[in-house]
Amino acid sequence: MMNLQERDKAVNWHPYTQMKTAGEVIPIVNGKGIYLYDTSGKMYIDAVSSWWVTLHGHAHPYIARRVSEQLNTLEQVIFAGFTHEPAVQLSENLLKLLPANQDKAFYSDNGSTAVEVALKMSIQYSHNHGKGKKKILAFKNAYHGDTFGAMSVSGRSVWTRPFEEMLFEVVYIDPPHAGNLENIKSQVKSVADETVCFIYEPLVQGAAGMLMHHAEDLSALMAFCRQQDILLIQDEVFTGFGRTGTLFAADQLSEKPDIMCFSKGLTGGTMPMGITTCSAEIFNAFLSDDQYKTLFHGHSFTANPLACTAALASMELLLQDQTLMNIQEIIEKHLLFSQVLRKHPQVENVRQAGTILAWDFKTDGKTSYFNNIGKILYEEFINRGIIMRPLGNVMYLVPPYCITCEELYFVYQHISEVLDKLMMDM
Ligand SMILES: *Cc1c(COP(=O)(O)O)cnc(C)c1O
Repeated sequence: MMNLQERDKAVNWHPYTQMKTAGEVIPIVNGKGIYLYDTSGKMYIDAVSSWWVTLHGHAHPYIARRVSEQLNTLEQVIFAGFTHEPAVQLSENLLKLLPANQDKAFYSDNGSTAVEVALKMSIQYSHNHGKGKKKILAFKNAYHGDTFGAMSVSGRSVWTRPFEEMLFEVVYIDPPHAGNLENIKSQVKSVADETVCFIYEPLVQGAAGMLMHHAEDLSALMAFCRQQDILLIQDEVFTGFGRTGTLFAADQLSEKPDIMCFSKGLTGGTMPMGITTCSAEIFNAFLSDDQYKTLFHGHSFTANPLACTAALASMELLLQDQTLMNIQEIIEKHLLFSQVLRKHPQVENVRQAGTILAWDFKTDGKTSYFNNIGKILYEEFINRGIIMRPLGNVMYLVPPYCITCEELYFVYQHISEVLDKLMMDM
């Protein structure tokens, strides 16, 4: 009899994984709260919220009950020409929480498709207005997903190399800080006439290595783009639903985006779904007796009732006082632990945005050993029953909001021990 890993190896191809050299996958049977359990009964703390999606812990009974009820009522219906209560309710509830100009919600399946829809909305907005502007601004090292459009507006790297000449051109700008704002503005100004939109991850560039910038600087850049008639696409796929300490990163910005993208925490990490919201100004540019001004985009599972219900249930949980207090608790505990981290000789660039705590493991150019540092760290924590997934030498915590102080201290303790241990190894 083959075990689950062997059967997996025979049939599955895993994401971002060199299948020739990949280590053993961990066969997970079930989850509860912040814990995942493997076939041998070993438990793991999910300190990265399963790729930043899980908000309220695994197999949350309330979300499970709501989705199960919905599954017995209506599991799926075509969303062209039809609608249903969960989709209407979810759009109503979500739009109420967003900047006041957000007026309509467009459904898709994941973060990348939410970005694709946003790009198509803004390019066709310009087209429908008879302008046809095509240039797009994005941050250096941006990450907006892995489909072709989303990949195009992301930074170029080894990941995108085989596709390079097939990706459309993007003008990259540095993330803003007080010292470079004027430079960025003049760069933006020089291409403003042809530029349709600026897409950005607000406050935190997640996949780039949890790079952070200040709300005031981003707000200033947004205001400048608006003045130059450049649409603002705010990709809150990662930052949405409480990650940065406010419900959305938008709550910390003084300028409103035209278009917003959501996924990851949208359903509390239970079901795949993406939403792109936009202002009435964008929506109205598609209203016409001319059929060609229609947004010709959709997916088979657009506004799937099960995913909508999971999102409704997750957002109810998110808005409970207890959850909002837990989020504040995580922020305070992270703040205290970051003071410990700052004193550690193996650590630099400690940074925090709400519940996201990140730091660099200092490598001092010791490349032969430390090239592999992400993998070494990953395995060190897995052995201790903690799932951390460093981005190169960038270590970070993105815990589910239901994590307790004791559980946080447990994770912090192991982080300190691992840092000490690897420092001794050098
Ligand atoms: C993860 C991510 C995406 C892509 O979402 P997928 O669901 O993985 O396609 C897009 N934008 C940001 C900011 C992300 O972090």
